[in-house]
Amino acid sequence: MTARILVVDDIPANVRLLEVRLLAEYFEVLTATNGPDAIETCENGKVDVVLLDVMMPDMDGFEVCRRLKSDPATSHIPVVMITALDQVSDRVRGLEAGADDFLTKPVNDLQLMTRVKSLVRLKSLTDELRLRASTTRNIGIEELLSRNFASEDTTPKVLLIDERKSSVERIQKMLRDRADLDVTHDPHAGFFQAAETSYECVMISTAFADFDPLRLCSQLRSLDRTRFVPIILLAEEGEEERIIRGLELGINDYLMRPIDQQELTARLRTQVRRKRYNDQLRASVTQTIEMAVTDGLTGLHNRRYLDSHLQTLFDRAVARRRPLSVMITDLDRFKAINDAHGHDGGDEVLREFARRLRKNVRGIDLACRFGGEEFVVVMPDTEGAVAEKVAERIRAEIAQAAFAIGQDGKAIEVTVSVGVSSVLKGVDTVAALMKRADLALYEAKSGGRNRVVAKAA
Ligand code: GH3
Ligand code: MG
Ligand code: MG
Repeated sequence: MTARILVVDDIPANVRLLEVRLLAEYFEVLTATNGPDAIETCENGKVDVVLLDVMMPDMDGFEVCRRLKSDPATSHIPVVMITALDQVSDRVRGLEAGADDFLTKPVNDLQLMTRVKSLVRLKSLTDELRLRASTTRNIGIEELLSRNFASEDTTPKVLLIDERKSSVERIQKMLRDRADLDVTHDPHAGFFQAAETSYECVMISTAFADFDPLRLCSQLRSLDRTRFVPIILLAEEGEEERIIRGLELGINDYLMRPIDQQELTARLRTQVRRKRYNDQLRASVTQTIEMAVTDGLTGLHNRRYLDSHLQTLFDRAVARRRPLSVMITDLDRFKAINDAHGHDGGDEVLREFARRLRKNVRGIDLACRFGGEEFVVVMPDTEGAVAEKVAERIRAEIAQAAFAIGQDGKAIEVTVSVGVSSVLKGVDTVAALMKRADLALYEAKSGGRNRVVAKAA
């Protein structure tokens, strides 16, 4: 993982100390020794995470953080406040200023790397979402994306697996109003519960009398349903080895006991955010794929989808020696409909045609808008004679009842011509199959329209 980390501290020796450690982990490091310089660097450079000292003359860390978080150009950059060890009030002020996380001086190596990596991951997800939101703006799904984009205020659903009653009670108190917390004392039960309910974070204590908490982490990581759920380990002082093993196994973060409330809530928030961004990205990929293969006007599949899928259906039919038929439909005198009722009227006719078409084909048939007023239906497991009957049913369904168009439900007589073809035994290709259907359609048109023609060969 490579990222740009900005280190801000008024004492050059402190800057140097963090810089060396970050460089050793192959991060790129920028530095600043005062607030205004730090803000300027964030505005200009591509900063992924800011490590910000609280105590600085003139403009202190809280003020820098507040300014960064209130400017839309920099508000998405994660800020880690570096506070003195015992200054709880500093952490509270940091949270109020919008800080994403804390580290206490002297900064522990493991903590430094875990927090920075965790925030870098979060940042790259935010960047990806921001990018998508801006590139999709012109095709109008930005609104869809941004609707979930701000989904940060709902209480996260969290599972705590901890066998010690006193610890559970303390955490319940700390997270009151901040999380919808379920608790289980038994690690085996916890595993099943995590698999059954969709939690946004699972917190696992390391203190079990006779159970290895890392086993639970590895089980959660290998199960499909829990693979992506953030895991926070609640560890004891002196368990560094175990934490490092846990991080290798895929836990996302850890907290040392005694647990500090500010730390707990900050880390939980970061993990929940990351999970939500991840889920959104996955959903938006699915949605983008759907949009790419769907015809916007009718909701049927589009030609791109047909082109890629017909070959698959064809190959499968040939391999299994099963029949396969296609029909191409073309609305009759559609230009005249457009001329008489306008382009919008024409569009309504297309939508109603698609509705009737869908109603008259089976679920396994593939109905697509091929372009303009032409549609294609691919019918697996269907002999030519049957396909011809289906085509005839569709033709009749269109001709028999006029289309009601516009607010006043103006009636328009619509008819359709259909060409049908089927896969031939012996040598055949998708192109030849489509060509025969097209020729059949042409015959239907020249034969007087509002009819079905099937090409035997
Ligand atoms: P034929 O019976 O020979 O098929 O006559 P036709 O008028 O349907 O002939 P043609 O295929 O040449 O015309 C199709 C028309 O469909 C031309 C085009 O303006 C119109 N068209 C194509 N796509 C759309 C669309 O998305 N919406 C609307 N309203 N019209 C479209
Ligand atoms: Mg046409
Ligand atoms: Mg036409």
